[in-house]
Order: sequence, then C-alpha cells, then structure tokens
Amino acid sequence: MAFELTFLGSSGGPIEGSNCCILIKPSHISYQDIVERNLQNEVLCVDAGAGLAKLSEVIFNETHDLPSCNLLNLYNDSLSVDEYFKTSTSKPFAVFKGKSPFSAAVDVFKNIKSYLISHPHLDHIYALVLNSPNFTEANPKEVYGSCDTVHALNSHIFNGIIWPNMQEFEIVNLNTVGFESPFDVSSYSVKMFKLSHGKLQRGHRNSSISINENFKGIYQESKSVTYVSSAFLISYKTINSRVLVFGDFESDHISNQNFNEVIWKEIVPMVLDKSLSAIVLECSNCNCVETSLYGHLNPIHLMRELYKLNGFCVNASGTENPLKDMHVIINHVKETDGTFDPRATILRNLEKLNLDYNLGINFSIALSGVSIIV
Ligand SMILES: [Zn+2]
Ligand SMILES: [Zn+2]
Repeated sequence: MAFELTFLGSSGGPIEGSNCCILIKPSHISYQDIVERNLQNEVLCVDAGAGLAKLSEVIFNETHDLPSCNLLNLYNDSLSVDEYFKTSTSKPFAVFKGKSPFSAAVDVFKNIKSYLISHPHLDHIYALVLNSPNFTEANPKEVYGSCDTVHALNSHIFNGIIWPNMQEFEIVNLNTVGFESPFDVSSYSVKMFKLSHGKLQRGHRNSSISINENFKGIYQESKSVTYVSSAFLISYKTINSRVLVFGDFESDHISNQNFNEVIWKEIVPMVLDKSLSAIVLECSNCNCVETSLYGHLNPIHLMRELYKLNGFCVNASGTENPLKDMHVIINHVKETDGTFDPRATILRNLEKLNLDYNLGINFSIALSGVSIIV
C-alpha cells in the first residue's frame, strides 16, 4: 500500500505559518471520500505547526491550478518544485474545486481525529492550539505524545492563561504514550521512539537550550537535562507498509546517547524487505559548526546517521547498497537570511555525500503545501 503525505508546513522557522505538519493517509482513499463518508480514522496529523489556514491556501492553489509552495518565493535561486522531489507529487485537494477553500479545509480537519506530537516546541503545536476553537465536543481531537510533551501542553499551553483549558471542555484530549510500546491510533499502529533534541541548561547558551532562571518546572532540579523529542514509526493496520517520521533531533555523536541507533536497528528488517515506504527527518541547517546546532542536524551529521543504518543493514544481510532507492524526505529546514535557498544547498550537499558514501538514497526536500506518494 502506498501512503500520501501532505506537508502542510515544512519550515523549521524563523518564519511563521509554514511550520512542521504532515497529513498522512493511504493513497487509495481520496479526501473527497474522507469528507463525504466521514472517514475519521484514515488521516493522521503528525505535528501541528500549520493547520487550517495553510490547508485553505493549498486547496485554493490546487483548485485554481496554481503552484502550492510559497517557501520557494522567499529566494531568488530556488529550484522548481519537481527538482526537490525523487517521489511523485500529487494534488489530492483539487477534488474540492468549486467549494470555498476554508469550508473544504474545515471539512477535512473535522475528519482528522488523531494528532501525533513529537515535542512541544511552538513550531510543532501552534496550529493545534489556534485551530482548537474550531473543534467541537462532538468532534474532539485525540492528541498523542510522550510524557514530557503532554505535561508541557497541559501545564504551559492549555492552562487557562496562555490558552483555554480545552481538555476540560473535552475538545482536546491529551494522551500520554510510552516509548517503544506500540499503540493503536485510528487505522494505524504506531511505535514512538525517544530522540535527543539538545540539552536544557540553566545559564548556558552555548550549544544548549537555555532555561529561564525563573522557570520552576520539571527541569528545576537538575542542571542539565536532555530535551526529549520523538520519532513515530507508523504502519497502516494489517498492511505491511510503514513510514518513519522524526521530530527535531540531533545526532547520537553530539548527544552521547544511543537513541538514534535504537531506531536504526529496529528498522533494519523493514529496509531490507522494502516495507518501509519513506523516512521523513530533519536537516535544519546547511552547515553549522557543532556548537551552533542547538539540538538539530546538518547534512554531515545526517549522513553519518544514515551511514550507520547502512552498516546495520549490511551486517544483517550481506547485501551491497541496502539503502539504494530508499526515500528519505528532508523536513524542518531553517530559513536563511534570504541570500540563498537553504533547501537547494542542503539537497546539493546531501547528493554529494550520497555519492561519497555510495549509498544511492533517493533524497527529497519537503515543501510546504506539496503532497507526495510513497
Ligand atoms: Zn522545530
Ligand atoms: Zn524543536
């Protein structure tokens, strides 16, 4: 079975309105079917850094045959949309021609019951928050995340001060799920893995995420704590087909943890039997020195991680080039000062490293507003 992924947002900031959000569904079920038959279990929303506004814009563009990605308009040296993808792209929302884009977007979101949230940074949650008055008791959203994510949403967002307590209205239900224990969400089975997204430290800015001295939270006791993010291995129930989506993360080499290694070992059989349709992961920066990565990846660190996966696959199978033709989609690229398109640079850097390491991976760069089939 193929999946259709819509990148409602793919930017790692600092711009707003196009941040990380992926809609995932089986490619053989159309959004028209989903809306007309109220199929609420077929679409999963992974992270919510974009939502109703972006989907309305995408619907307007697709129904008027206009290009969908506004990120490419930010730079003078961007490539064409097709040059960023090694997968086929699709226009799943063109079926709403003639409908008001906003009402079509509302209809689609009415039929998205479940959200997976990788971590509670604003660029991954703000559309969930701002869109929530549009949700109803009859149509509550089930939000799944780690203990850290749910705690942060509960204490610091839906606390009645930053935003109304949507949990009390039973409009947003926050569900804590454990790492590495599969759980069912709608028509999917999901396994969540722990990631390191940098170190939280008091009074240290260099390479770490500095905590406000006045903050009295779960990080109060210790001086330095891993900021936990999550990856989701998502399978459509009963079908041997899956996608792996990472939240923000850094390399094991920087974190001195083995969180990524655990994931690479887990997916070896799925890479070898080709049941892993795609890996979506971040590469936030073109080329930063290690002290300026702040819990993110650059092309060199990303390639080292994938080379590790390659090694595990070679050891398990003896196959040469086990990652050949595997789809890796780069997400969460941070915008530059505007002098050059960071996505084109990252793609060039990765293609070069792909040749140097002789991996044969199919790299694509996620673009806000673009849908793909994998
Ligand atoms: Zn982010
Ligand atoms: Zn983050």
